[in-house]
Amino acid sequence: MQQARVAVVGGSLGGLTAACLLRDDGHDVTIFERSAHQMEERGAGIGLMEATSRYLTGRLGLGLDEVSIHTDAVRYLARDGSVVHETRQPYHFSSWTTVYRHLLHHWGTDRYLLGHEMTGFEQRPDGVTVRFGEDRVAEAELLVCADGVGSVARELLQPNAAPAYAGYVVWRAMVPEQDLPAAVRDRLTDALTYYVMPNSHFLVYPIPGRDGGLRPGERLINVVWYRNYLAGGDLDDVMTGSDGVLREISLPPGTVSARHDAEVRAVAAARLPWQLAEVVAAAEQLFLQVIYDIEIERMAFGRVCLLGDAAYLARPHAAAGTAKAAADGWALAAALRSEPDVISALAAWEPSQLALGARLLERTRRMGHRSQVDNTWTPGDADLVLGLYGPGR
Ligand SMILES: Cc1cc2nc3c(=O)[nH]c(=O)nc-3n(C[C@H](O)[C@H](O)[C@H](O)COP(=O)(O)OP(=O)(O)OC[C@H]3O[C@@H](n4cnc5c(N)ncnc54)[C@H](O)[C@@H]3O)c2cc1C
Repeated sequence: MQQARVAVVGGSLGGLTAACLLRDDGHDVTIFERSAHQMEERGAGIGLMEATSRYLTGRLGLGLDEVSIHTDAVRYLARDGSVVHETRQPYHFSSWTTVYRHLLHHWGTDRYLLGHEMTGFEQRPDGVTVRFGEDRVAEAELLVCADGVGSVARELLQPNAAPAYAGYVVWRAMVPEQDLPAAVRDRLTDALTYYVMPNSHFLVYPIPGRDGGLRPGERLINVVWYRNYLAGGDLDDVMTGSDGVLREISLPPGTVSARHDAEVRAVAAARLPWQLAEVVAAAEQLFLQVIYDIEIERMAFGRVCLLGDAAYLARPHAAAGTAKAAADGWALAAALRSEPDVISALAAWEPSQLALGARLLERTRRMGHRSQVDNTWTPGDADLVLGLYGPGR
């Protein structure tokens, strides 16, 4: 089809990848991002799946070893710190910040408009008017909504698709490897390391340093700990930050209450293998995200579409959220190339991406249930291998 004017709402990894791909195809693309400042410090570690790295390697010519850390093994520890299971399983780990930095550098800042929070839009047969508060609008022929877990667009287009609390949260931290004793560092930087305990599991893996450093001594250990909290009282209590504010989705670094920070550290010291307890003890700041499932029925609405976490939201157990967002973007670009107009392109694009989201949600829900409810998360089980399209894929 001919060049279209495209508004991408949300400038995280899903929005940026889609925007870069559509611009490469000659479309006239602008990104509108709610955040007032560039988000360099925002993200944590990610398992880097092929769909997420495809733009960096295929279009920007970067090597995987320039944006991620390669590990060879998956290792399970016992309570006493010994290894109970180890398999050879190669992965690449990166960080949200590393991928974001490369994409944004390539995209540039001219068409990356910060401080633009979409509040609504009106669609006509020939275009969409996007609203940012009372007095700012943008016109487009295609509106791509990549506005994440709390998507305003999803709320407007699919009001019944409310987030369903999974019954647990994930505690996270990033610890400079140089802050850890050599015995701990050496054990945790060459593998994805798990510790499974009743109704909970803990994992760590190495990621690039805050400035992107990939060499030994420069990297961070990314900490991920899934813990159950009853909906209502217990969840509200942990999600009420040190500032007294109750947040629904996440508590950023620096906002966890002193009481819960102390509780997590005390349980870590008492219950985790010593290497993992040392990592938690060394963490300067803990932060936390609530795990939700979001199921949707549609992603395409005329000239408007939902992409990434704004569409299906899957639990993080397959390490595939950014990959799903990127895959939505690659498929969207292909559909726009092969269809005669925006509306038929979105209609052609939707079924495969809905199916991808549904499969990932179903698989990650099963994985989460095994760990947090059934206690059947078994070291070495091939179903637990990370991947967007299925285990290891
Ligand atoms: C514990 C955990 C571990 C994870 N691990 C991995 C992993 O290993 N690998 C992986 O691939 N993924 C992982 N993920 C998932 C990944 O973080 C998300 O799937 C991914 O960030 C989704 O990208 P997105 O661009 O769709 O949305 P987001 O990253 O949520 O971005 C949404 C953007 O939209 C902006 N925005 C929101 N509302 C508006 C508005 N109204 N107007 C304008 N802008 C707006 C936001 O500021 C933000 O920049 C993990 C997630 C969690 C919670």
